[in-house]
Amino acid sequence: MKRIEDYLEGVKTAAIAGHVNPDGDCVGSCLGVKNYLADNYPDIQADVYMTGMKDIFRYIRYSDAVLEKAEEGKVYDLLILCDISSRDRINVAGPLVDTAKATLCLDHHKTNTGGYTWFYNFPEASSASEVIYGFLDPEKISCACAEALYTGIVHDTGVFQYSNTSGHTMEVAGALMEKGVDFTHIIDRTFFEKTFVQRKILGRVMENAVLHLDGRVISGVVTLADRKSCGAGAGDTEGIASELRSTKGVETAVFLYQMDSSHFKVSLRSQDIVDVSLICSEFGGGGHTRAAGCTIEGSSPEAIVEQLVSRIQKQLEA
Ligand code: AMP
Ligand code: MN
Ligand code: MN
Repeated sequence: MKRIEDYLEGVKTAAIAGHVNPDGDCVGSCLGVKNYLADNYPDIQADVYMTGMKDIFRYIRYSDAVLEKAEEGKVYDLLILCDISSRDRINVAGPLVDTAKATLCLDHHKTNTGGYTWFYNFPEASSASEVIYGFLDPEKISCACAEALYTGIVHDTGVFQYSNTSGHTMEVAGALMEKGVDFTHIIDRTFFEKTFVQRKILGRVMENAVLHLDGRVISGVVTLADRKSCGAGAGDTEGIASELRSTKGVETAVFLYQMDSSHFKVSLRSQDIVDVSLICSEFGGGGHTRAAGCTIEGSSPEAIVEQLVSRIQKQLEA
């Protein structure tokens, strides 16, 4: 197994970046790499790029050093991409792919098609944070680095609940706990605790949720009107798709979030039959077998739900 140090020879400047709308795994994997480099390679100038990081992740060391804009014309020796899924989802650091001297992409999305100097993609891994742990020397991982990676694993596994959790995931999480991470705080404050607005918008979705195909599929929608009346934004609906999915008898959940008058962000989650990454790929998105996303143009949520349900039905009947 290669180590991250194998790619650091002669590197004086490194950029680290993840995907747009960063989730816990994106934040955890990027800041995990940042902390590792800062602790063990202090001579490397390592810049992390991220936009829209939630305040709940502020306990992670170097979260206050995150850059929101790439300096024009800046050329890095190495660009490290974590959890990106696809090239068009890279955050503000996207243009650096063309200018960096080399790019190392570490991911776990089966729909990631690569195209980087070095590309390591492990779709069976729970999270990019788990993948990154495998590239680090365990002896050189500090508590701060461990806190970042542990956060990523917790978020992408729904606290070790989803089917992407393996024995190896637990071993990695255990090794990170041994570094002294405050796991109670991380799990409670960043995963389970929700704001009042998040509770309101979840309630709205559940109140109007619809069952399809004899209860094997569920759909939920957040419209512009719902957003306005609850005061909710994009970051407030994380976790709703999974909540819908864990309804008794449901195999697949469809969650729509209206972005503007003609676009919906779609999140699909499945239990153990439907490969939702195939469906989202068809619409220009991607993700994992049991969790995927895409954006669909249209103004009628009912019509979009119908299109998605018919594709789910095909897979269920196959
Ligand atoms: P979400 O439903 O947005 O939570 O996304 C579920 C999974 O699919 C995550 O791992 C995302 O990184 C991935 N994903 C979401 N949207 C897209 C997209 N448009 N293209 C590729 N992957 C996506
Ligand atoms: Mn992610
Ligand atoms: Mn991830």
